[in-house]
Amino acid sequence: MYNSLSREKELFVPINGGHVGMYVCGPTVYSNVHLGNIRTFMSFDVIYRYLKYLGYKVRYIRNITDVGHLVGDVDDGEDKIAKRARLENIEPMEVVQKYTNGFHKMMRIINNLEPSIEPRATGNILEQIEMVEQIIKNGFAYEKNGSVYFNTKKFASKYKSYGQLSGRVIDDLLVETRELKNQAEKKHPADFAIWMKADDRHLMKWKSKWSVGFPGWHLECSVMSTKYLGKHFDIHGGGNDLKFPHHENEVAQNIGACGCAPAKYWLHSNMLLMNGRKMAKSDGNTISAEELFSGKSEHVSKGYSPMAVRFFMLMAHYRSTLDLSDQALLAAEKGYKKLMDANKYLQQIDHVIPDTTSEIDEQINNGISAVFDELDDDFNTPKALARMFELVPVINSYKDDKPLFRDIAKETVERLKKCFSDVLFDIFGLEDESGDSGSGMGDILDGIMNLVLDLRQNARSNKDWPTADKIRDELAAQKIIIKDGKDGSSWSFN
Ligand code: AMP
Ligand code: ZN
Repeated sequence: MYNSLSREKELFVPINGGHVGMYVCGPTVYSNVHLGNIRTFMSFDVIYRYLKYLGYKVRYIRNITDVGHLVGDVDDGEDKIAKRARLENIEPMEVVQKYTNGFHKMMRIINNLEPSIEPRATGNILEQIEMVEQIIKNGFAYEKNGSVYFNTKKFASKYKSYGQLSGRVIDDLLVETRELKNQAEKKHPADFAIWMKADDRHLMKWKSKWSVGFPGWHLECSVMSTKYLGKHFDIHGGGNDLKFPHHENEVAQNIGACGCAPAKYWLHSNMLLMNGRKMAKSDGNTISAEELFSGKSEHVSKGYSPMAVRFFMLMAHYRSTLDLSDQALLAAEKGYKKLMDANKYLQQIDHVIPDTTSEIDEQINNGISAVFDELDDDFNTPKALARMFELVPVINSYKDDKPLFRDIAKETVERLKKCFSDVLFDIFGLEDESGDSGSGMGDILDGIMNLVLDLRQNARSNKDWPTADKIRDELAAQKIIIKDGKDGSSWSFN
């Protein structure tokens, strides 16, 4: 896996044998999750699924940020959740509940697995206060007017690692830091708040020895990862926009508190773009998942199903940007259907030819291995998909009843079946939306549709055009398209 810390691909060696501890920064629940957020959580869902598939026992922590994340991602300003509470005239915790529910619903729709633990920042205030105390005790933080700041300069001169993750140089931060109200309280502009004194208007605040206040945004992740995964754990993930300041400061806090770096491997997923710009809640360049599913948006010509959207995201490597466009979504939808159809057919092949080994077996077995080789290479989902597409003609040759390979071994067919169902469903987390999820409903639908097509054929033979057209039009209204060919009619979902 590609480790952002070393900027290299590294062999993954877990700290504790077959166990993996993975922490991923979760959403700040002050508005509906947008597709950019969904992309990041889906990228880590696939990583989680693949690690589990490989047999690791994974403890996956994904937090909910419900306090401390201020507007503009800086140390001064209104809390994003409190601001929303003020605008909607409700309690901050109502905001948190509402958007956490929405987030969970979306994770289910897109078929992401639940994490092992989903801690909240507000549920870990005592632990955050303890970490602030520890950092002060170790000499890397100071109190000023009731707020506590991390002494970045002092930390950086002791541990040369500050800036290693993000590539930032501490003196450059001088220039970059905006004129903030509390900058005067800091010893150095690169210092950041780990505890903030709340003013009277502030809605979410807790008692501490320094002031009635609230924790800095970066602190929660240092605390919750340590609490559930220990001081040194395997993987820390998040979107690459979090590298600085969030993750850089998280590392500093952990080292400042306990002298050890939190994660062995840092994984960062890249941004979802729209019209070439980062999709972001804060500047309105977003399309909601609901708009995308329903097609009610100026950015798309029609609605796309959740699995077509999931497939669209799988078609890009998690470290590459992905630009959302109608054209790319159409291509993804087509690809998704093609692979699902091939798989459906593959799972029905009942191979009766006795075991042999031929060149074809070797070719297919190599094809299967190639799929997993791509996944082993930093979770390369687009390349793994490409390898699967290379195997589709083999499957379709059976479909056309012209099997290319009569002497393929039963064992090979079984391996191919397992490869397709494991990768598509267990690792990529796709679902078959065509209606046949193994419940037999697909067969029933096929039966009904054959009857309808027969009735329509009879009407046509009797030159009863109004009936034939009515059947076609009514089905079209249900998004079922009939194609009339010389060998009869066939149907498909639009
Ligand atoms: P937030 O709710 O803003 O704290 O973000 C939650 C997660 O979504 C973080 O890991 C962000 O890096 C990620 N994220 C935010 N915007 C995008 C985007 N346009 N594309 C991909 N991930 C994003
Ligand atoms: Zn975080």
